[in-house]
Amino acid sequence: MKYRSTRGGVSGLSFSQAVMMGLASDGGLLVPESIPDVSARLADWQGLSYPELASEVMAPFVGDIDEAVFKKLVLRSYKNFQHPEVAPLVNVGGVHILELFHGPTLAFKDIALQFLGELFSHILTEQDAVLNILGATSGDTGSAAIAGVRGKPGIRIFIMFPDGRTSPIQERQMTTVLDDNVYNLSIDGSFDDCQNLLKTVFNDLSFKETYALGAVNSVNWARVLAQVVYYFWTWYQLKQPAEFDVTVPTGNFGNIFAGFIAKRMGLPLRKLVLATNENDILARFFQSGVYERGAVRFSNSPAMDIQVASNFERYLFYQLGENATDCAAFMKRFQTEQCASLVEPAGFFDWFTADAVSDTETLESIQGIWHEFNYLADPHTAVGFHLAQKHQDPKVPMVCLATAHPAKFDDTVETAIPGVNNHHPSLDALLGLETRKTAIVDDPDVLKDFIRARC
Ligand SMILES: *Cc1c(COP(=O)(O)O)cnc(C)c1O
Repeated sequence: MKYRSTRGGVSGLSFSQAVMMGLASDGGLLVPESIPDVSARLADWQGLSYPELASEVMAPFVGDIDEAVFKKLVLRSYKNFQHPEVAPLVNVGGVHILELFHGPTLAFKDIALQFLGELFSHILTEQDAVLNILGATSGDTGSAAIAGVRGKPGIRIFIMFPDGRTSPIQERQMTTVLDDNVYNLSIDGSFDDCQNLLKTVFNDLSFKETYALGAVNSVNWARVLAQVVYYFWTWYQLKQPAEFDVTVPTGNFGNIFAGFIAKRMGLPLRKLVLATNENDILARFFQSGVYERGAVRFSNSPAMDIQVASNFERYLFYQLGENATDCAAFMKRFQTEQCASLVEPAGFFDWFTADAVSDTETLESIQGIWHEFNYLADPHTAVGFHLAQKHQDPKVPMVCLATAHPAKFDDTVETAIPGVNNHHPSLDALLGLETRKTAIVDDPDVLKDFIRARC
């Protein structure tokens, strides 16, 4: 499989090149040159384990990694999951919840970042190269990225977070990792300051090249690809119904875009319900065809507090008939005018039903799921569940993706259900552990010196 950019300036990349490039060098996103139709293979894949299915679903998109080597790499990616099925499907009051939070950091990001870590490690070994990952996090991504690459030869990871502004649990999930290749940097500033530092350092192209800096952001194609797998997995767990719907708690549009790819590959997935919190740019788009930026609001489902969804451009590319010129023009208009709209919202537009959930409804949803079905949901999953119930068609199975374990968001769960027992042994185990972090002032030169001294 070869990869090209949604803006037309890059083409002919191999899978490994696409993984190492991350964001396309013309500012667009990388997509495969074609999407394989696997509907004739579905019967053969029945009964496979999660990692076996993952190898099969992803293989047509790879091409430049030996098949047996790739299988082993995928097997290693899911060995640290705490559930034998990797992603179990549980029936909660007639909605099927797919639990994607059994990885090392208890958020669905592990599904992709465990795989990406193995992939980086393989490609770097082949090329005898090194990679220094620099990232900024306000929560889930940092810990999942660290867990994906800790202890891996040839890789160092530097993760910045705003001092005192991530939740105590999220901070411990990062700072208790003591591997030599992991550097946690607490920045004297806000999350925006961290992101600005990141941009400034990445914009110094000679520094970036000299120190082989790379990113693990959610636009990496390998992250989307790893997420396509569990849509197939869900269908087998449901015993292969004629059709099914899936509700996806959405932020950067990575998770739900993977569902779009699965449907394009021939999976009998009917509808994707896009669930947002009050940051509803995507919900508004799929209701009106108008993509218009608003201000970011802080909600009780913080991993979805996003206005501009970094993976949206991939969907747009397909919606615009794979026309890179139109796609680039739409994005340019959005950048200059903060608003752009589809001329003709036909195409894949109606594959999505989109809706938004308020903070109050999120708390009520957590309460309702607990009192009616004795199931504890984290706030992001609760956003999804609320809309899964609202948009459920009684004739078609409805699945809701559970994106985090409730114990990760204990404050909000406690607010919704005071006194509820909300623990996870792997989070409790972090409490007494040694931690390591370095405090750094908000200054790009200080950050560069720190990196220089360690590389
Ligand atoms: C990242 C994240 C999301 C949003 O996923 P996207 O792929 O960005 O749409 C939802 N819930 C949780 C818990 C997350 O960590």
